[in-house]
Amino acid sequence: MSDFGKQLIDVDGTLFEANAILRWALTEFGEAHQVGKAIEELAELIVELARRGDPADWTDATLEELADVEIMTKQLRMMLSEPERYDAIRTRKLERLARMLHGRAQV
Ligand SMILES: [Mg+2]
Repeated sequence: MSDFGKQLIDVDGTLFEANAILRWALTEFGEAHQVGKAIEELAELIVELARRGDPADWTDATLEELADVEIMTKQLRMMLSEPERYDAIRTRKLERLARMLHGRAQV
């Protein structure tokens, strides 16, 4: 997924950076509320993905739930006091995946 944080969003002629909107939501609603919202959106994506019979059936409904989850996971990362710890874990997981794929390619 592309990093959409720098994307400018036009609201009635006023431009807001996506990251600023997400931080605004955290300030406005509070972290505890947004964690609950993240749980809700994750559940909606699970239901939507499980509902599809065809894995290639990317309907607007599925994309809506995927977008909701991306917006919420970005807010979860913003809540971290040490985001670099999360980034290191994500990098380690990507390395493990690449190592596994590289091993499969060798067989
Ligand atoms: Mg949703």
